[in-house]
Amino acid sequence: MVTRSRPAGVTRSRLAVASGRLGASLERQSRTVRSALERAARRLLHLWRSSLQLRVIVSTMLLGLIVVLMLGSYLYQRIADGLVDDRILTARAEATSQTRDAQSRFDSAGKMDSVSLTQLAFDVVGQLSSPGADQSREVILTRAKNNTGPASVPTVLSSDVGLSSVPAGLRAAIASDPTHQQVQIISIRSPDATMVSAAIVGSRVTLPTAGQYELYFVFPLQREQQTLAVVGRTFALGGVALVLLLGAVAYVVTRLVVDPVRRAALVAERLSSGRLHERMRAHGEDDIARLGKSFNAMADSLQKKIRQLEDLSRVQQRFVSDVSHELRTPLTTIRMAGDLIHDTRHDFDPSVARSAELLHNEIDRFESLLSDLLEISRFDAGAAALDVEATDLRATLGRAIESTAALAARRGSSLDVIPTDGPCVAEIDPRRVERILRNLVANAIEYGEGRPVTVQLGVNLNAVAVSVRDKGVGLRPGEAALVFNRFWRADPARARTSGGTGLGLAISREDARLHGGWLHAWGEPGVGSCFRLTLPRHTGVPIEYSPLPLRPKEQRSPSSLAGSATRRAAAPERVEP
Ligand code: ADP
Repeated sequence: MVTRSRPAGVTRSRLAVASGRLGASLERQSRTVRSALERAARRLLHLWRSSLQLRVIVSTMLLGLIVVLMLGSYLYQRIADGLVDDRILTARAEATSQTRDAQSRFDSAGKMDSVSLTQLAFDVVGQLSSPGADQSREVILTRAKNNTGPASVPTVLSSDVGLSSVPAGLRAAIASDPTHQQVQIISIRSPDATMVSAAIVGSRVTLPTAGQYELYFVFPLQREQQTLAVVGRTFALGGVALVLLLGAVAYVVTRLVVDPVRRAALVAERLSSGRLHERMRAHGEDDIARLGKSFNAMADSLQKKIRQLEDLSRVQQRFVSDVSHELRTPLTTIRMAGDLIHDTRHDFDPSVARSAELLHNEIDRFESLLSDLLEISRFDAGAAALDVEATDLRATLGRAIESTAALAARRGSSLDVIPTDGPCVAEIDPRRVERILRNLVANAIEYGEGRPVTVQLGVNLNAVAVSVRDKGVGLRPGEAALVFNRFWRADPARARTSGGTGLGLAISREDARLHGGWLHAWGEPGVGSCFRLTLPRHTGVPIEYSPLPLRPKEQRSPSSLAGSATRRAAAPERVEP
């Protein structure tokens, strides 16, 4: 048979690989355990924070436990002291009478030899110790320390409790005060080998011819200890029951209070979500019922006010819608007459021809104002609906730019477009989005003071975006939020060459909202403005962040730029709504 031994290096490297794997698996396991513990701790913390009931119950039980522990240990100590004191009292009385008996027996014995005296000592000790299996009293008779006479009687013990159990201090106390009884508490080994406390009572006796001896009575406190153990167990059981009872009481009481509060919170949530008819149950006369009644009264008055405001707003919307519709018919006639006059203006005086042109321009403005008003009325009435189709935003933007090219040429502004690398497809209503983009680009040209306007496209996983940046008048602080208000204008006196109505951005924002999108503005006086439209790529899928930044790069602080430059290479800046 050929035995081949493996080279030591190979074995060592396998061992290293195996121990490496073991280490990795242990590491994995400890990571799993740690994360499970962390999850459990987080869940507990959440429960603790969110449940008032749990907090009240746990706090009550903890406080109850502290009180029970303090009171229980005080009472236990008092009972233990009482039991021991009582036992010492009876032990003293017993020892006194027994010592007197022993002394009278020794006295009556008269003079005798040492053998008879020893026999007598054994008899006396045997009699003094309890008869039979009753271990309630042990006796030790031993020569006094200061008895220097010839020892004629040895130490006599009634049981295993030896002389070593007698404390030296007790012996010294008897030696210094032989006329009085001395008592101490000691520990002795019981017959079942456990340690028990015992009271030891010692006093002097005089033996004929042998002189001074010490007589000790040992009273084991076994029964007292048993009684105390029963008391301790009863206290512990009673304490646990009391703490549980406190917990149950706290549970019932908090349920009585917390339940109505929870119901009130639920009703308040429903109310704030628009369910104005929600009310609390309010029966009885107690505090909770009063809370319910006041809450309901508040909800009633809120509902009334909201209804009034809704009615008012509905009347206003109706009025605007009716007026706009009513104006359409006369405007059509005026339009036709105006067009006729405008077409034949060359046959009139120059001054009348000029008036014909002015009339024509104003009719244009009037028409676009009326159509904007009708559009706003449709939004207010909730009648605006999307006509969604998958559209490449590049085409929509192209059309919007085309329609504003003439205005840009007039104002001397160039339009730079930064497209996306690939397609920029989203589910949108192309007509509405084109209207938004047209309005943003037209505004940028209008307020861009002839400087270049940059239009950028962006796309990410959930959203598409278009930002329109100009370097014109810009916006003063706070105006970025106001520009979307109806009829708001930074400078009402400013003459609009393109015939703006002051409703363009309000309609654009409504259009963006209809898509579930955002329209944001940024601007600084003299630096320019940036308007950014962000739309979800798929209808109903919310936008997480916009693919394009709102604030232009050069307007951010150097530190924030430095921080975001590398991030943007991988992912666009995160911009919240
Ligand atoms: P309109 O342009 O017809 O006045 P809009 O709703 O489009 O109405 O705009 C409202 C106001 O917002 C404008 O009057 C103007 O003051 C301000 N605004 C809009 N776009 C810009 C921009 N690019 N730069 C500066 N201000 C702007």
